[in-house]
Amino acid sequence: MEGVTTNGIQETTIANGTSASALTSTGIASNLAETAPSQTTVEVEHPLASLDASLLQRNITPSPRTPPQADDPNIVLQNTCTDHMVTVQWTEKNGWGTPKLEPYGPFSIMPTASVFHYATECFEGLKLYRGFDGKLRLFRPNLNCKRFLGSSTRIALPGFDPEEVLKLIVELCATDGPKWLPKEKAGGFLYLRPTMIANDAALGVQRPKAALLYVLLCVFPALDTPSGLKLLASQDDTIRAWPGGFGYAKVGANYGPSLVAQGEARKRNFNQILWLFGENGQVTEAGASNFFVVWKTREGKTQLVTAPLTDRIILDGVTRRSVLELSRARLSNGVSADGLELAPIEIVERHYTMHEVLEAYNEGRLVECFAAGTAFFIAQVALVSWKEQEITVPVKPGYATTIKGWLSGIMYGKEQHDWAVVVEEKGF
Ligand SMILES: *Cc1c(COP(=O)(O)O)cnc(C)c1O
Repeated sequence: MEGVTTNGIQETTIANGTSASALTSTGIASNLAETAPSQTTVEVEHPLASLDASLLQRNITPSPRTPPQADDPNIVLQNTCTDHMVTVQWTEKNGWGTPKLEPYGPFSIMPTASVFHYATECFEGLKLYRGFDGKLRLFRPNLNCKRFLGSSTRIALPGFDPEEVLKLIVELCATDGPKWLPKEKAGGFLYLRPTMIANDAALGVQRPKAALLYVLLCVFPALDTPSGLKLLASQDDTIRAWPGGFGYAKVGANYGPSLVAQGEARKRNFNQILWLFGENGQVTEAGASNFFVVWKTREGKTQLVTAPLTDRIILDGVTRRSVLELSRARLSNGVSADGLELAPIEIVERHYTMHEVLEAYNEGRLVECFAAGTAFFIAQVALVSWKEQEITVPVKPGYATTIKGWLSGIMYGKEQHDWAVVVEEKGF
């Protein structure tokens, strides 16, 4: 398994000497020093109890449920979770408490809880895969755990050692995976949702004094779109994220406000919003996926282009990162695979605009567009609608399908790769 501290999602370890004018980064550094000393070089005299997965208490359900059949309508509704969940309570007084694996069920939370009023919530999304070799695997889960820390501390929730959260995730998968994702379901997956909420019962607008970290495992539909996604470009009255904001964090506050535009897009028969930023129509990401275009430059070079992480308005997707790394490693010199001849590709992370995409389209240089994220995986885009323009893109075997094949090969154990973490199964 990869170390959590290397090759990670946006570095969250903050060194001494953060500038006094940087309120947010200074606040995050001192939060980490108090709540997760292992994640910072700043020292505090009395750090609180750290998150420790080895203390886990297993409280197995007395009433196990039957997993739904493949055609159960509840799967599409994403309302069915496995028998257990993991919970850990944190308080400002005592730090992290005892992690518990317990029956999945409702929480009791006071109506005054911070999360209900001030959006003190963040989450992660990753999948548990049942390989064709019969093994259960997670895909680069260390990156999700590290990003989870970046999100929690961005909204004043406590810090933790990401490796400890990973151990809790693995424990839940090891317990419920064998029954809910049995060996007969090779090629199937469940969806993991690590979440943190502030649950202190007090209305004060302040840094939360109590938080609950929990992990659930949900039965999830395959969101495959063989005919390609249809994207509606965002309009001037909706911006998803902005520099100095929190677009890079997986915090609930980024999603609620986007649902009006998304609902309207669905009504008009689009799958997702393509989020643009600024007067020039800078392309950022698509729904809760990162967005890629493949085009030819006027000089005839083939490029894979995606928005950069530098201004922190897009999410540092694990799928995005994996697409970029695999493309650099395997497509820089071109490839012939499955009867396809793919020209060498240059990988480019930079700002680009809808004007450039439209120009490439009009000049016949637009090769492919695709979205990349855990939920939709790699989904080719068939149409982008922007202002009065309709940009149609061919959906056919090419770069996106090749990269998708490589990634799913790793996830489902067809290719042995250190991005895939095998979960040793326990059951209950
Ligand atoms: C979760 C998410 C992504 C995709 O990230 P992955 O780690 O690849 O699943 C992209 N954009 C947004 C806004 C997201 O919430």
